[in-house]
Formats: sequence, C-alpha cells, structure tokens
Amino acid sequence: MTTQTQDVVQPGWLALHGRPVLISGPCSAETEEQVLQTATRLFRTGKVDIIRAGIWKPRTRPNSFEGVGTKGLPWMQKVKEVTGLPVTIEVAKGKHVELALEFGMDILWIGARTTVNPFAVQEIADALRGVDIPVLVKNPLNPDLSLWMGGLERLEKVGITKLGAIHRGFSNFGEKIYRNRPQWQLPIELKRRMPELPIICDPSHICGRRDLLAKVSQKAMDLNFDGLMIESHITPDEAWSDAKQQITPEVYGEMIKELVIREDKIGDAPNKSKLDYLRKEINFIDDELINILTSRMKIARDIGEFKKENNITILQNDRWNEIRDKYVKRGVEHGLSERFILKFITDVHEESISQQEQIMQNEHYNIKS
Ligand code: PEP
Ligand code: MN
Repeated sequence: MTTQTQDVVQPGWLALHGRPVLISGPCSAETEEQVLQTATRLFRTGKVDIIRAGIWKPRTRPNSFEGVGTKGLPWMQKVKEVTGLPVTIEVAKGKHVELALEFGMDILWIGARTTVNPFAVQEIADALRGVDIPVLVKNPLNPDLSLWMGGLERLEKVGITKLGAIHRGFSNFGEKIYRNRPQWQLPIELKRRMPELPIICDPSHICGRRDLLAKVSQKAMDLNFDGLMIESHITPDEAWSDAKQQITPEVYGEMIKELVIREDKIGDAPNKSKLDYLRKEINFIDDELINILTSRMKIARDIGEFKKENNITILQNDRWNEIRDKYVKRGVEHGLSERFILKFITDVHEESISQQEQIMQNEHYNIKS
C-alpha cells in the first residue's frame, strides 16, 4: 500500500514559464564571458525559458573544479538583465540560500548529492522559511522515492508552494549505458502520489554523454514530463565540469526543435472513438488477466494441499526451471522481451509459493490447536 501525501503545490506554477518548460545553461559558471555568451546564444535559439548554471559544485571526488562561488552570482544577475529570462542555481546549504536570495536568483534547485541528506535539506528549508521562491528538488543519488518525497515535504512544511522535482537518474554500480540509470518508474510513481507536482527531466545527468540526449529527451516528453533541464556550453569539450554531456546552445536548439511534443489530453482528437474502443478492449483483457491469475492461484493452493498431505517441500527446483525456461522461450517467440517475461513468470511463481506457504502454515496452526 502506498500513502497519498497531501499535495500543497500551487497547481500550474511552472507551466507559466512555458510547456514544456525548457531550462538550459552550463553545468558550471566558469567566467562571466562564458555564462553571458551561453545565455545569449541560448536566448537566440528561442528554445529556452530559464537559464541555469552551477555556482557551487558538489563533486564526487576532490581535486575537481568546485565552482566559482559567490563571484558568479553577479554574472547570473547580468544574464537576467541581458536576456530578460529567469535564472536558477543549485543550493546545498543555508548560506547558499541566503546569497541566492540576496542576488535575486529566481528559482533554486537542490542537487542529487544534497537530497540524500535530510540534515542538509532541512538546513535549506529553514533558510527558506517565509520566502516563497520556487524550488526544484532533484532525485537523490539512490532510487529511494521516500527520500525524494521527504525532501519535497521538508520544503512544503516551511511554506514553499512553487515546488517541482527533477529526475536526473540514479547511480548504479556497473551501469554501462547511462551515467545515471533513468528508472522511469520512480518519477512515474512520484507523479501518481503528488499529481500537482511538476516534474522535469534532466537528460544531461542521466546520459552523461551527448549522443543519448535526444532519445532520452523524447522519452521524457512521451511520458508527459513538464519540462527539460539540459546543460549547454559555448565550448563543451573544454568545460570545467561534465564536458562529455554538454552541447553548444545551437545544437541544443536544433535538438529541442526536433522533439515531438504530444498533447497530454485526448480532448477532441478526431480519432477519439477509436482510442475509447481500444481502451475498452485493453480493460477487458486486464479483467481476464486477473481472472486467469486468480484461477492459477486456486490451483497452486490445491497443489499446496497435496504437498502438505504427502509431506513434500513447496519448492522443487527442477519443476521451476522447467516452467521458467519453457515460458520465457514462448514469450520471446511471441515478441515479448526476455526481461519482461522472466520477471513476470518469476513474480507469478513467487506468489504461488507464498499461497502454498499459507497452506503449510495452516497445518502448523492445526497441529497446535
Ligand atoms: C548539476 O545539475 O550540474 C548537478 C550537479 O547535477 P546532479 O545534482 O543531478 O548531479
Ligand atoms: Mn553537471
């Protein structure tokens, strides 16, 4: 069972900045010239709503560039003056919040390395008490939805109503394709639990490399994310941080133009009746699926009774290997992915075992009584 948290987010606040809202800018502010040039070139693409830059950089390993610090804040002010666009920076402690507010930053974000730490998030929340500035919370490094929600809740509690989440993937030892594996089910579940919360996707930190950015951005749009945050740099290969994943403002602009943005509501689409029909069909099949699974579990319980009477163990490895191999093969032949069918058949098998365990435990109970 999942608990529904009270959603006190101001509905639609982020959509005022555009839909999808587009955030771009360098990973790190390096020099005034670099920040201003990136911002003006982004502005010229016509495909950016908010400019980002990292001022204080939380780095995984020491001896990497740790950000220019406070001297970068007037550069962001200048970006605002020149482009007229709102600006956003990362804050990781109370002092950062104070400085960000002093220099008129429009939106704050909390980074993945901070969301994992409730002490740090609470310190930020305390510094924000009574200030209604928008705050975006990146997911924690590890795939822990409660920790992500906990960060958002700490901000809600001090009165922040313009809240949003950023999905930047999850770190995973041995991952080969992504820098941070997306694990889309987490942001999807977050949206289900907090329906008014806008969620932005950060393909740059998910991918860690340029060639995957377009695909992940399109996927985020197809999953109805509210926006994108993508890093861009005037000379990406020379960037002081995250060089491999940054792209020039012009490449960014082209990539955004290529995205297909689909409607999130069916509305009066001409083929609506066809969709209604297909959805009815799928509901019918899902009903059948539940009926079939229920019948399967009834039989599993009958087998459990038999095993109990004959003193046989629940799990018989040969039998399980046989079912698994047979159905994975059949599933693959029918075009299902091996990963899916293996997970499905394993889950079904686990449920059968748990049903049979209940039968065995009843025996134990019967003996005692
Ligand atoms: C960033 O946005 O530059 C950053 C440090 O990201 P994350 O917190 O997602 O690693
Ligand atoms: Mn970065």
